[in-house]
Amino acid sequence: MSELPIYPMLIAGQPVLAATSFEVINPATAAPFARAAAGDASHVEAAVAAARAAFPAWAARSDTERSRLIGVLAEVLQANMPELMRLVTLETGKPVDGLNHVGAGMEVGGAIAWTQVTSQLDLPVEVIQDNAEARVEVHRKPLGVVASITPWNWPLMIAIWHIMPALRAGNTVVLKPSELTPVTTARFVELANAVLPPGVLNLVMGAAGSEVGPAMTIHPGIDKIVFTGSTATGRKIMGNAAATLKRLTLELGGNDAGIVLPDVEVKAVAPKLFAAAFHNNGQTCACLKRLYVHESIYEALCAELLALAQAVKVGDGLDPACQLGPIQNRMQLEKVEAIAEAARRQGGQFLCGGERLPGSGYFYAPTIVAGLDEGSQLVDEEQFGPILPVIRYVDVDEVVVRANRNSNGLGGSIWTRDLDRAAALALRLECGTVWVNEHGAVQPDAPFGGIKQSGLGVEFGRHGLAEFTSIQTIKMMKA
Ligand code: NAP
Repeated sequence: MSELPIYPMLIAGQPVLAATSFEVINPATAAPFARAAAGDASHVEAAVAAARAAFPAWAARSDTERSRLIGVLAEVLQANMPELMRLVTLETGKPVDGLNHVGAGMEVGGAIAWTQVTSQLDLPVEVIQDNAEARVEVHRKPLGVVASITPWNWPLMIAIWHIMPALRAGNTVVLKPSELTPVTTARFVELANAVLPPGVLNLVMGAAGSEVGPAMTIHPGIDKIVFTGSTATGRKIMGNAAATLKRLTLELGGNDAGIVLPDVEVKAVAPKLFAAAFHNNGQTCACLKRLYVHESIYEALCAELLALAQAVKVGDGLDPACQLGPIQNRMQLEKVEAIAEAARRQGGQFLCGGERLPGSGYFYAPTIVAGLDEGSQLVDEEQFGPILPVIRYVDVDEVVVRANRNSNGLGGSIWTRDLDRAAALALRLECGTVWVNEHGAVQPDAPFGGIKQSGLGVEFGRHGLAEFTSIQTIKMMKA
């Protein structure tokens, strides 16, 4: 009998264990630190039934009341921050503070901030026409039951991004975390169920390869799926969802380009570029994943990035001095190794890294690769790890075309002191968000989402909230 704690599912307000459970690994040690109940399709069935039963009463609550309860959830997150941060570090490997303060503190702090902002959002009735002839109103109504499927890189924050607007708009939720990182989410859902009515927020979990995710995507009792994860899984979900015409928000992979113009101050931008690429070991959808640098500053910027990579402290995220933790799972570590091998074969010059670090955990040295162009795997595909290609360019107009020649379209950035030029270039980049002189900084009131193969729809702010509603138009003739 294992002595590890077993995290249950939560259905209709009740903790639910299953016949079996699965191990949750701490990537800093490669050893299990917890277990999670291994659900199956019958648990999806029960959770959807609970969410459907809870929906009418939750949708009928006043907007003010739902706003108040979501505000209480922010307080609950705040009150439990130390425990949640520790769980985030144990299951993701993310340091407590982290490079550029991107760590477990930011994950839980961000969850609180997004919850607070979402509690204050609203979608008032829009009056299109109101004259002697008629009044035309546009109402936003909840969709019903929303399924949330989350990845392993920011498990709590992304669950919050999904759940809060769904609940705020009057939907009920069935949530499935990644089998690699179910623990923080399970603890949060337990805490939230002390505040929310039973059935409003349900949690099901599945072991690797389980039927839980697919069962959710085909279930006729689910009206919408909000999914964050890989483009490959997004395609499968979209296919499954077609039969019941579910609404979809898909936040998928990215291969964000950063373009550094020749007028930057190299020493000043290097730490920002480094952090944008390497925070959370590059395992963030909107990390900077391809860095294009003008030839006039290429060598100087490479030298600065190399110095930063050599100075960064990699280790167990529970050590407060540590800036980067391990890669989150063995499969991802092997994927990074394979992409590094491809970069070697394709002529990449490794300025540093390119190998695992000693220890039992999934540690990989921060790696910078010069000398590659489009057509190499490291430039063309999302690496999702601590390995950055730095690509030389000559002509700014040409580099925009090169940056756009990629199937992803999540984010991008321009680095320059000339803000007018940056604004013009930003409009030419094919991606959902363009940052100027920063990269990847999302905020709870500004829409964020991918175009091309990076996804469908947006999250955050009023635009994101609207995605959890359907429109009802009411036309009243007055004469
Ligand atoms: P993933 O392998 O696609 O898994 C994501 C979630 O989907 C997990 O909960 C997974 O469950 C579930 N899933 C897998 N197959 C499924 C199926 N057939 N039907 C329903 N659900 C299924 O992604 P990941 O490796 O966890 O995350 C990394 C990817 O996410 C990267 O590509 C990254 O860029 C992307 N991402 C995008 C954003 C964004 O906002 N655009 C944000 C963060 C991450 P199991 O784990 O239990 O298999």
